[in-house]
Amino acid sequence: MFSKILIANRGEIACRVAATARRLGVKTVAVYSEADALARHVAACDEAVLIGPAAAKESYLLGDRIISVALACGAEAIHPGYGFLSENSEFADACTKAGLVFIGPPASAIRAMGSKSAAKTLMEQARVPLVPGYHGDNQDADFLHQQADGIGYPVLLKASAGGGGKGMRVVESSQEFKAALASCKREAISSFGDDKVLAEKYLQRPRHIEIQVFADTFGNCVYLFERDCSVQRRHQKVLEEAPAPGMSADRRKAMGEAAVAAAKAVGYVGAGTVEFIANQDGSFYFMEMNTRLQVEHPVTEMITGTDLVEWQLRVASGEALPLQQSALKIHGHAIEARIYAENPEKGFLPSIGTLVHVRTPEAVNFELGGTPDPAPFRIDSGVCEGDTISPFYDPMIAKMIVWGRDRQEALTRMARALAHYQLVGLSSNIAFLQRLIRSSAFAQADLDTGLIERNHAALFPPHENVSLPILALAVIRIVLAERHHNQNDPWDTSHGWRMNGSLSRRFAFDNEDEKCDVDIRYLAKGWVMHGTGGSAPVRLIHLNGDELSLQVGTQFVNGTVVRHGENFHVFSQGQHCELKYADPLVHAGETEAEAGRLTAPMPGKIVALLVSPGQSVQKGEPLLIMEAMKMEHTIAAPKEGVVRELMYRVGDQVADGAQLLVFE
Ligand code: ADP
Ligand code: ADP
Ligand code: MG
Repeated sequence: MFSKILIANRGEIACRVAATARRLGVKTVAVYSEADALARHVAACDEAVLIGPAAAKESYLLGDRIISVALACGAEAIHPGYGFLSENSEFADACTKAGLVFIGPPASAIRAMGSKSAAKTLMEQARVPLVPGYHGDNQDADFLHQQADGIGYPVLLKASAGGGGKGMRVVESSQEFKAALASCKREAISSFGDDKVLAEKYLQRPRHIEIQVFADTFGNCVYLFERDCSVQRRHQKVLEEAPAPGMSADRRKAMGEAAVAAAKAVGYVGAGTVEFIANQDGSFYFMEMNTRLQVEHPVTEMITGTDLVEWQLRVASGEALPLQQSALKIHGHAIEARIYAENPEKGFLPSIGTLVHVRTPEAVNFELGGTPDPAPFRIDSGVCEGDTISPFYDPMIAKMIVWGRDRQEALTRMARALAHYQLVGLSSNIAFLQRLIRSSAFAQADLDTGLIERNHAALFPPHENVSLPILALAVIRIVLAERHHNQNDPWDTSHGWRMNGSLSRRFAFDNEDEKCDVDIRYLAKGWVMHGTGGSAPVRLIHLNGDELSLQVGTQFVNGTVVRHGENFHVFSQGQHCELKYADPLVHAGETEAEAGRLTAPMPGKIVALLVSPGQSVQKGEPLLIMEAMKMEHTIAAPKEGVVRELMYRVGDQVADGAQLLVFE
């Protein structure tokens, strides 16, 4: 086994590799960019070396720089994680030339699988089934058009060098072919520097089923069964599970053996994934091979009781595979959900910002009562509270993986785990994931790659009115916090008014576009609340930090209430509700502009500064322009005044709520 390795990656995968290395007594070296000085992966390793500025091109993608760091630190091997340099054959070669072990397949295997067209030719020779189509060298437009007509529409055009769901075009008819080909080639050249395309039959309602394979340097190659990754948005995976629902033992064996044949055909060593596209009748075809550890590898680990990073380290250091095929068994069912900083309601656009509040489900909620089963859930994450999701890297916040004795139990646990995952500071897909796993299509395993689009109406239901218990949690939290500030006078009357001898007060909130007004009346022990959701007496049962328990009418509710700027985030009964609060004190006294600050209404990029320090401006005069969510937003002067200081330059990224300028 190695004594020291360098991890050429960041985020959750770097933390994941470091955890196994530590368990095996292998020392670790982290590399990091200027944006990641305080990142979790830096703390997770024994040593850490700064390699450059935030942009990946100037840091995590600098193969030569990373190799010299490895040599200087005395590391014997480099683990590339996924993304970045993991499928770069030149980097794998350069490691070997420098006398370092690349923890991955031989460069020749990466190269062989790097082109989808060339890989298909190889697979044809290895008798692995292929989607009917053309993947040869002839790129003449008329010739490709003829091929497509022969395949029969719909046809899928794919960039041979493509990846990450990019460079694909569905062609519905012969008339559309030429235009689609031109646009596919344009995207292929601009994204991958290579305009070679292949054409294949576009399958209807297919499933994405992939096989985890593992090979050592002694000629052993096994498959660790399948993962179903059909639930995708923009051809990218959102939920993954193992085993695949409805898989028969015969088909599992056939797919496993086809994947092993694919790996053997390219002299594969290490962890790899052979992706297949499958028809609803179970027939399956080779799609591509990913020559690295896959994001969704934990579901395989959970059902097979293995640690695939440990296998990678053992195989790379020259050991044989820890288990042979006959010793590998499937135990139970595992599901992974990718928690992304993104906005599902706005077409899954990534969001950036600071994680001001993070609370994750605790294992104690899932105790199994002494059974020898795997841990019922696991969270792989590279960030913690206080960290920022920046625009420089992938917006994945965490992966949540649950295990159950069967799919139903895993689903129940996933619902429970998601309900206990609290995030404040940016938009995330947690609520969307909750709806997705509860949707009847997913619950009944009616899977195919169009599941999200087909169930759009159910997955994006109309806005629901905020319930009285949720409003009660927010209101009581505010009242208690104020009482805390005015401890000498618990009946502080400064922001309530007496009506008919009792003390009343109105709270005005906005939830999305809904206005929710609540009136409360103070009683000797508790309150009476009156809002759009009805009226009820409210009593405080328990308060512990930001968690409170209330009795609202006859109902008992628990919740966590977190304040972030003007917004109150209420987490209760598995729901997250964001209430914008019009604080009468702040608004009566000091508005943002009067306080001399102007803040970003959303995360975005500064595209233009229209004023300079010292400049006098009129009310409503544009000060700067931000670009966010693919739109431009003008920030205007709230009143007449003088610009004192500009906090950012053109091109800078700003987080939600960041101070943009000082204004007097
Ligand atoms: P990438 O390199 O971007 O991962 P893939 O070839 O693996 O590209 O395809 C990505 C996704 O596109 C698949 O998971 C599947 O949802 C869809 N897809 C690919 N090929 C086909 C096909 N022939 N028919 C229907 N859908 C396909
Ligand atoms: P997978 O099938 O494993 O999702 P992809 O080809 O879509 O494979 O990408 C692999 C993963 O690598 C993605 O999920 C993404 O999170 C990550 N990734 C891709 N590019 C980068 C990058 N530049 N930095 C960090 N992670 C990346
Ligand atoms: Mg793929």
